[in-house]
Amino acid sequence: MNAFRSNIPDKTFEKLNNNGEFTRLAVSPGIINKHYTPAQFQTIAKVVGETGAIKYSASYSILLSIPTVDVDKTIEELENASLYVAKQGPIVAMKACDFCDGDKMEAAPITEKLYHSLVGITVPTRLRVNVNGCASACYNAIYDDIGLVYQKDSFDVYLGAIPMGANAQAGTLFAKRVGVKHIDAFLKRIIELYKEHARPNEPFYKFYRRTKCADYWKDLI
Ligand code: SF4
Repeated sequence: MNAFRSNIPDKTFEKLNNNGEFTRLAVSPGIINKHYTPAQFQTIAKVVGETGAIKYSASYSILLSIPTVDVDKTIEELENASLYVAKQGPIVAMKACDFCDGDKMEAAPITEKLYHSLVGITVPTRLRVNVNGCASACYNAIYDDIGLVYQKDSFDVYLGAIPMGANAQAGTLFAKRVGVKHIDAFLKRIIELYKEHARPNEPFYKFYRRTKCADYWKDLI
């Protein structure tokens, strides 16, 4: 019966914030690696302590609720344990598959390059780029704002996914076989269009669906 024991957690983010100020951190072993070490779990347990909370999420990361006063120190401790703490806010963020636990790493170098080039760019609302390393796309790239599915030195690019809610939908194929050499500039142009033409706080899928007949999308292809 453990599956349904304690269904309502004591320390939700909301409950914690009723008695103090807490910040939520999304932590993972990296963009590609999904394996935690026991030492990393020990660090997580230490920084959360008795006051904070730990929760797993749908976005390939663990969410930690940490007293806001300790956030800088906590981030430093987590990073010293080789954990990745995702940047928050209305920026370009990145997800990726685990490239078959590191057995299929063909797209890993370009994924890392894209990370350094794109992550952190300010956009109207948080924009998730999801890179999957083969056509199996088993980490659901096509359900993120920009889905990249790698195939032989190129990417198929999917746009317009509604990632959640009753109307959730996969994105549609926007461009086929964009070469590895061109993908960075291609994605930057998409991000520029979003920044230039989106309404304030307009999510990417709404923006794309509203504007997809505009000439600037045709010019891009
Ligand atoms: S998408 Fe392909 S490369 Fe990535 S984990 Fe799944 S099967 Fe492996």
